[in-house]
Amino acid sequence: MNDYLGKLRKVTDLADLANLVETCRSCDLREGCQQVVFGEGNPKAKLVICGEGPGADEDRLGRPFVGRAGQLLDQILAACGFERSQHVFILNIVKCRPPGNRTPLPEEIQACLPNLRMQTHLLQPRIMILLGNSAAQTILRTDLGISQLRGKWVQKGSIWFMPTYHPAALFHRPQLKQLVWNDFQEVVAKYRTLIDPEHKAPYC
Ligand code: SF4
Repeated sequence: MNDYLGKLRKVTDLADLANLVETCRSCDLREGCQQVVFGEGNPKAKLVICGEGPGADEDRLGRPFVGRAGQLLDQILAACGFERSQHVFILNIVKCRPPGNRTPLPEEIQACLPNLRMQTHLLQPRIMILLGNSAAQTILRTDLGISQLRGKWVQKGSIWFMPTYHPAALFHRPQLKQLVWNDFQEVVAKYRTLIDPEHKAPYC
């Protein structure tokens, strides 16, 4: 573990970090998954989206948000004028799939935090969207639930955080769709203010 953290501290770019995280055995999740899902998108994107952890489809394909929830996320992003490979980088709190898609345990989240911190340090986002309880509570260091956190900007240093519901929640609670859409409209407005005043979005 200490050897791993020593190597982590010496990483200077995202590709090297991805290679290193492939070797991570800092928690037991790696034993039960097929592969590490590091994240993907434009390494220069100033908008980062953070979810909870890989699911079955993500574990199989090695890519984040490619299952049903990922397809819904892509639709929301498209409505906001955001392209996966161009405007965003998508990652998760833990990089290995928890068995049966359970919520990652606090100790697993803690073990993966150095990876997430280095990833965030290298990406240098201006805006981060936090999808669901695990992402919002971990990054904002709070016990409040996502229903209390969502829709309210939190600024820490140069990063603006927008917590909102995880797209997977919208399948069993469709009444949340409007709230999520409101939150993403906030993100588009902030994106225009901080990153690209000319940003075009078809629906906002
Ligand atoms: S979940 Fe994170 S800490 Fe655990 S083995 Fe995978 S990369 Fe390492």
